[in-house]
Amino acid sequence: MPSKTATTLHSDHVIIGGGAGGLLLAARLGRRLGPDRVLLVDRAVTHIWKPSLHEIVAGTRDSHQDALPYPMLARRNGFRFALGELAALDAEGRRLTLAPVLDANGEVIAPERVVTFRRLILATGAGTNLFGTKGADAHTFRIEDADDARRLNRRLTDAFLGAAFSEERVLRISIIGAGPTGVQLAAELDAAHADVVASLAADQHFELELSLLEMAPSILGGQPEAVTRRARTALDRLGVRLLTGTEVTRVRAGSIETSKGKVPADIVIWTAGAKADKINTSLGLKTGKLNQIVVNERLETSATDIWALGDCAEAPGPGERPLPPRAQVAAQQAKYLARVLLAREAGQTAPEPFVFRERGSLISLGREEAVGAVQTGRKGGRLFIEGMIADWLQMSLLLDHHRAILGVRRTVLLALARMLQTGGTGRTRLH
Ligand SMILES: Cc1cc2nc3c(=O)[nH]c(=O)nc-3n(C[C@H](O)[C@H](O)[C@H](O)COP(=O)(O)OP(=O)(O)OC[C@H]3O[C@@H](n4cnc5c(N)ncnc54)[C@H](O)[C@@H]3O)c2cc1C
Repeated sequence: MPSKTATTLHSDHVIIGGGAGGLLLAARLGRRLGPDRVLLVDRAVTHIWKPSLHEIVAGTRDSHQDALPYPMLARRNGFRFALGELAALDAEGRRLTLAPVLDANGEVIAPERVVTFRRLILATGAGTNLFGTKGADAHTFRIEDADDARRLNRRLTDAFLGAAFSEERVLRISIIGAGPTGVQLAAELDAAHADVVASLAADQHFELELSLLEMAPSILGGQPEAVTRRARTALDRLGVRLLTGTEVTRVRAGSIETSKGKVPADIVIWTAGAKADKINTSLGLKTGKLNQIVVNERLETSATDIWALGDCAEAPGPGERPLPPRAQVAAQQAKYLARVLLAREAGQTAPEPFVFRERGSLISLGREEAVGAVQTGRKGGRLFIEGMIADWLQMSLLLDHHRAILGVRRTVLLALARMLQTGGTGRTRLH
């Protein structure tokens, strides 16, 4: 076998991370500057919109159908793509290193590569914050990428089937963190239980005991009161046990120890808190306490011509607090940075500093239902919505993301293909 020697790549604009923010930026720059001047690097071969991961967990969304290959996206949007994981950065020397890519057997399929650049944009996202909780690493599932979502989907599918044949006929699932992900997942799992039980003989029916644990006094922190209240009512109706004001102190196999006592659990899913990768602290850039790269109001890092956006960046928000890790923030920052970089190319003055505009948020509650509040204007008015309209708007966020990277025609075709498939087989969960 030929030896795999290190190679060097160069691009004027290098973007690391092709998620909700990085891919949008690569597409906007690529369409204007072309493949010789824009390079996107990601450690995965396919792109999945992260806010839809809980649907992959529940099995309502097919991860293979929804995963868009980066090489196809690169061709369509005029950028180059390199598979690889950022391993080191020499900010002054304007070069970075990508770790070798290994196959499933640990064999090197692509060697370590050096990438030189004029401008670098870091958009590597963030993982979960376990807050140093004992046992959490070993005994909880997290949903950080499509592989995690598929793994958890398989575990849940097995557990649902196993529960139908168990003596006790009970499956206990605990979700730690009652933010949007935890709440949406609880609703999806309840709906999955209803679907599965409906397909079983009466003597195989089993109970699903769902608990949602949250350290804060209320669920969906930061959401308008009306949204929190409706979501709480919906979860009560579904029989989800809400344990707010509850601190998780330890996770063991089969149970969770909390400030309010022990909670038995066959499966524990951790959705609370975000924390960026430790590698950020070794890049020679200023970082914050959640390992995020500190940026100013123009998304500039502490090094010249290096920017960061999305979940991996600690960007100033209103008041003293940094902007939250949300897809909406990442997308708006990507659009802003595209304007900044294209203005530089054209020798024009840079746009005004970045200002995040809250567009509202939507919480899907399983069974084709959702609640949310959308911004009605720049003055901060909010419109409360629920039911089918909110569910439809929730789906339109994904369509909007696809439109930005695939164009209108392909987005319509993809949506139609999905509708035809669900029309043919019905909407199924944990199948
Ligand atoms: C289950 C779930 C549900 C969510 N629901 C919502 C929601 O309803 N609304 C909302 O606004 N937000 C939601 N979020 C948050 C939202 O998904 C993130 O805020 C958003 O995806 C951040 O975008 P990003 O571009 O910063 O990072 P990401 O979208 O996370 O993308 C990061 C990319 O970087 C790549 N990468 C990481 N490290 C490296 C490396 N070292 N080298 C190369 N590539 C790397 C990854 O493969 C990935 O493609 C949800 C998140 C989860 C997990």
